[in-house]
Amino acid sequence: MSAHVIDGKAFAEGLRERVGALAADFTAKAGRKPGLTVVLVGEDPASAVYVRSKGKATEAAGMKSDTIRLPAETSQDELLSLVQKLNADDTVDGILVQLPLPKQIDEQAIIAAIDPNKDVDGFHPVNAGRLATGLEGFVPCTPLGCLMLLKDRLGDLAGKEAVVIGRSNIVGKPMAQLLLGESCTVTIAHSKTKDLPGVVRRADIVVAAVGRPEMVKADWIKPGAAVIDVGINRIDAGEGKTRLVGDVAFDEVAQVAGAITPVPGGVGPMTIAVLLRNALVAAHRSAGIPLEKGAI
Ligand code: NDP
Repeated sequence: MSAHVIDGKAFAEGLRERVGALAADFTAKAGRKPGLTVVLVGEDPASAVYVRSKGKATEAAGMKSDTIRLPAETSQDELLSLVQKLNADDTVDGILVQLPLPKQIDEQAIIAAIDPNKDVDGFHPVNAGRLATGLEGFVPCTPLGCLMLLKDRLGDLAGKEAVVIGRSNIVGKPMAQLLLGESCTVTIAHSKTKDLPGVVRRADIVVAAVGRPEMVKADWIKPGAAVIDVGINRIDAGEGKTRLVGDVAFDEVAQVAGAITPVPGGVGPMTIAVLLRNALVAAHRSAGIPLEKGAI
């Protein structure tokens, strides 16, 4: 059997187009563009690349993009006062502070300072609580993107066995909450899980968010299962080159699974597309303009 390869890139492009159309409607109604402000502290090269692509994607969707770059030696108080200023600015709908932050800054303190209604990353404890209790809030972009791909492929997820490998606040935990919200029977596996292959073998849906190259093997997978690979790992490809692989051994797992996301081109492109979606939703809420349920 050969799995259907889920084209996250194409799905993300479609989502970005829908966001663009709704952003144009918003601009016509509100007399201003929806606005996303990204804060980058320091010069981490990977973060700089992410921030640049977020800015470009925001503008391409017809939204107002601001990037605030601060030096690596910025203090926690300085960053907190910037966040407070952005919280109070009505033209800023979404605030994203790019992680990781330099070590003199407590990330949790910064996340907690962001207005939960502008927290388009969905990392604020209030948004985590809203997700856990089934209230409307902002959901972290990567797991929400995974859920969109799963629902697009599988339709109704109710009653399915789902195993999420990884329990980070950014991916694993919110992913599990989302799947529970879809009435899946959810298991969260982590580094202390006993017999991980046996646990994963029960799953109709596997989400791997571990950060270990090609860890999930074909004989862990129930035939026909849907496999979502969140991992992004750069490995040595010989001759001084590197290549990106996921947490799933793609070639062998694709022989057993029913559907699988590739790396790159699977979950990765969804993250920014969902970020734009969250910023658009934030803009509608802050301007009091209704956004039809299920519109995006
Ligand atoms: P974290 O390092 O925060 O979490 C990793 C999780 O994997 C932990 O819960 C850890 O368990 C678990 N784990 C580690 N080793 C094992 C093992 N041998 N068996 C079972 N579980 C294990 O990572 P993130 O959640 O932030 O990211 C996970 C991956 O997803 C990374 O590759 C990251 O680059 C990628 N990622 C991709 C994104 C995208 O846009 N596509 C966005 C975000 C992340 P424990 O808690 O017990 O330590």
